[in-house]
Amino acid sequence: MDLPIKIISTDFDGTLHADHENPPVPERLQELIGDLQRRGAKWVINTGRDLSSLMEGLGRAHLSVQPDWLVTVEREIYFREGPRFFPLQPWNGDCERAHRELFKAVEKDLPRLFKWVNGKFRASVYSDVYSPFCLIAGTNADADDIEAHLKDYCESVPNLTVVRNDVYARFSHTAYSKGTALAEITRQLGLTRECVFAAGDHFNDLPMLCDEHACWLVAPANAIPQVQEAVWREGGYVSDRLWGHGVADGLEAAMKEAGLL
Ligand SMILES: [Mg+2]
Repeated sequence: MDLPIKIISTDFDGTLHADHENPPVPERLQELIGDLQRRGAKWVINTGRDLSSLMEGLGRAHLSVQPDWLVTVEREIYFREGPRFFPLQPWNGDCERAHRELFKAVEKDLPRLFKWVNGKFRASVYSDVYSPFCLIAGTNADADDIEAHLKDYCESVPNLTVVRNDVYARFSHTAYSKGTALAEITRQLGLTRECVFAAGDHFNDLPMLCDEHACWLVAPANAIPQVQEAVWREGGYVSDRLWGHGVADGLEAAMKEAGLL
C-alpha cells in the first residue's frame, strides 16, 4: 500500500516537547513517529530554535527516534545522513542572501524602532545573527501591541514580515517561513502536500498549518486560539490534551483514518 502519511512536520517547543514533563516527549508519540519512519515516512522538526539550541534540547530529551530533517529559525533546512545534519543548498545560501539584502533596508530605521519599544514597554530588544530586530516582550499583551506596530512598519519595506512566537518576535523575509521550508522539503522528497502531516501551537506555526502545505493538521490543547481556529477551519484535529500527548492523539487519529492502525 502507498503510505498516506509520508512527512510528519512537528514544531518543537509546546508541540513535540514540554520542558517540565518527564519524558519531555511522550513515549507514545515517539512510538507512533518511529512506526511511520519504519514504513518509510520522514520526520521533520520545524522550529524557531537555532540549530545548537535544538540539538541541545534533543540531546536532553533522550529520544528513541531521530528526525530526518530539521527546519531551524523558521527558515533554514538541514537533512540527516547517518548521525550528522547537513545544510540544504542552495536553499540555505539563498535564504541567507535574501535576509542580508532585506535587512540592509531596515538598518536606518532600527534606532527609531528600538526607541519606540523602549519608550513604551518593559521589553528586551536586540540584534542577533538572524534578525537586526529581536524582541522579548514582558507579557503577551505587550507583544500584541509591539507586533501591531512592527507590522505597520513592515508595510513600508517590501518582503519584510514579523515572526512571532509567544513573547518573542523577529523580522524575517516573507518568502521564508515554516510553511515554505516544509514545502521545499516536500519538493525535495518528490512528494506533494496530500501526504504531509503538520502539528504546531503558536503564531510561527500558522504558515505550515494550512491547506497549501499540509493535508493532516493537528493542534494540541495548549495551542493559542488563533492556531486552534486555523486547524479547525482546515478540517484538522484539535486535541483536548496538552503538548505531545495532544499531537500523539492527532497522529493516531490520522493514522487510523489512513488505515495504518
Ligand atoms: Mg511552539
